[in-house]
Amino acid sequence: MRGGISLGYFAFLSKGLSSDITVVRHEEGHMWDSKVMGPLYLPLVGLPSLLNAVFRFTGNYYDFFTERWANRHGALESDPQGNLHLKQVKRK
Ligand SMILES: [Zn+2]
Repeated sequence: MRGGISLGYFAFLSKGLSSDITVVRHEEGHMWDSKVMGPLYLPLVGLPSLLNAVFRFTGNYYDFFTERWANRHGALESDPQGNLHLKQVKRK
């Protein structure tokens, strides 16, 4: 499996992904949830995320609520193919 797992202040990424800023920011988003939720993070986010990674409850992996939360914290958005992108900032 290719991707990352966040636990507390640590993120474990598949080889080669540490240079992908979207993956790093996504995992930082999970870290933020962990910091806010404390011990509730594992049952509320960790376990559902793990189950989503295995069973793919949504067509696009990043449509699952835990992944949307992480993307929001990381200012990311995903395309219909499941690729992460930095959210575009609209300027005047
Ligand atoms: Zn995630």
